[in-house]
Amino acid sequence: MDRYNIMWTGGLDSTYTMIVYSHYDIEIQPYYLRHGRKSEKYEFKAMEEIREELLNNEKTKAKILPLIVIGEEDIPSDSEVEAAYSRLKAQGGLGSQYDWIARYARHNDVEGLFYSPVKPTSSASKFRGCIEANGVIREYVNSVGRKVFTIDMENSSPDLKLVFGGFNLSETFDITKIEEEQRMRDEGYTRILEKTWFCHTPVLGKACGCCHPCETTIEAGQTWRFTESRLKRYRELKEGASPGRVRFETYIDVIFGR
Ligand SMILES: [Zn+2]
Repeated sequence: MDRYNIMWTGGLDSTYTMIVYSHYDIEIQPYYLRHGRKSEKYEFKAMEEIREELLNNEKTKAKILPLIVIGEEDIPSDSEVEAAYSRLKAQGGLGSQYDWIARYARHNDVEGLFYSPVKPTSSASKFRGCIEANGVIREYVNSVGRKVFTIDMENSSPDLKLVFGGFNLSETFDITKIEEEQRMRDEGYTRILEKTWFCHTPVLGKACGCCHPCETTIEAGQTWRFTESRLKRYRELKEGASPGRVRFETYIDVIFGR
């Protein structure tokens, strides 16, 4: 049985990839990278509930293996990858997770790990910018007939190949968050859609409306995930209100159920 390795966070994009591959007679090995964010417990809860939903869904054919949680202590040092990552990051920023995962995958022989970057709608993606500046993306159809994107190893820089060469980019690369949402609703996965978690700095268990993933979610048009007062605070922040004051007001809003 083929094994598909998928980075999973419990968020919309990686959950979309989990759903896509749940339809095939394969093994899915999900991986989660610990990052010490406040949102971790909400992400674990979302993944647990979504796994349950998938296991009980008649369309699920895949065997979903227990989540492998990667901690900082599991990341080996690797001066080659670290140097390549630093050079890429210096060009315009790039999340540290790419360095960590590249080192982990290289030393644990994890092949073809799937990332699920989505097509951006408003703000530019540093990840996509980095790939475009340093190489070429190749598209192919894999053994279960799904579209996959990878780094073109003949036309990309040595640094890009070292950091991203071992990864697959899921078909989310070609679609926006709103398209993901529509497809999930059309295929009967609305309950899973609503269980996905996205906020990095929740306020008493509610999405804050102000962190980067909340911003991306609002800008992508998924305002249904927020209350009116959270959207109002978001607009205030955009208009220059102090982040500390907005967060304090958000606490008050949540306490009063607004
Ligand atoms: Zn947030």
